Amino acid sequence: MSNLLSPNVPDGPSEKPSRGPVAEPYTARSVELSPGFDVWRALPQRGRRMVGAWCFLDHVRSPDRTLDVAPHPHIGLQTVTWLHRGAILHLDSLGNERRIAPGELNLMTSGAAIAHAEIAVDRHAALEGLQLWVALPESARNGAPAFEHHDDLPLAHFGTLEARVVAGELDGHRSPATIFSELVGAELRAIEEGDATVPLDPRFEYAALLLEGEAHLEGTQLPEHTLLYLGEGRERLSLAAARESRIFLFGGVPFGEPILMWWNFVARTPDEIARARDAWERGRFGAVRGYEGDVIPAPPLPVRLRAT
Ligand code: MN
Repeated sequence: MSNLLSPNVPDGPSEKPSRGPVAEPYTARSVELSPGFDVWRALPQRGRRMVGAWCFLDHVRSPDRTLDVAPHPHIGLQTVTWLHRGAILHLDSLGNERRIAPGELNLMTSGAAIAHAEIAVDRHAALEGLQLWVALPESARNGAPAFEHHDDLPLAHFGTLEARVVAGELDGHRSPATIFSELVGAELRAIEEGDATVPLDPRFEYAALLLEGEAHLEGTQLPEHTLLYLGEGRERLSLAAARESRIFLFGGVPFGEPILMWWNFVARTPDEIARARDAWERGRFGAVRGYEGDVIPAPPLPVRLRAT
């Protein structure tokens, strides 16, 4: 998806991860992703811009609106698309055309440059899901672009919970998705009402987002549309949830590199962002074939990112 109308990611140095467990709520904000189509943006937040390498999280919940995100560019990141209802068609500048349905993962690695479009397959059906971005570390961010689709993601069980490991690793269950830093993204679903304990990696910082239902993490109720940042140093997480509740749990080793995010770019310097913007405006990201309509033009570069 595209950071279309809200290129206002707060600047500044990355926050230090909380040493030791915390439970800090960050309220998601409603953002218009494409005309008439709103999403809940849970990350980045002022005061909490990353969790591990995860630097962006949109929660899409639309009963009847059409998702149509025209071609737009990305650098320096991976997009993780994970649906609960509906289906999306992905088109990219590598020539990939891939429909994604609930329970499947679309993983796009931008490397140095990629462009894509995302369109709801049924323009009148409900659409619900997540799109997250993972910042690429220095060793991978100038690499080749790539796209993967996975429909055989591992399923772990913890008491009354089942956990689908979308990316990375949870308690030894490893997603086949290609990643470049130690992280995890998993959807937890309560098969029955009850309590469960999920083993965690104490080197990771974690956060959780309630997707549906009602749940308590370590005794703290998860409010709707709220990211609960859990800090690092946890060996396990206790969870009590109503039947059919769903929670997205994600985290990773704190990302050691300061990033600069603007629009759809994850970079390191203003100059790099200005160059990527210029390359997009000159059509140098490659065409997204199969999309009928215009590409998304880059917003004006804010003064703070202009060359001095
Ligand atoms: Mn996108």
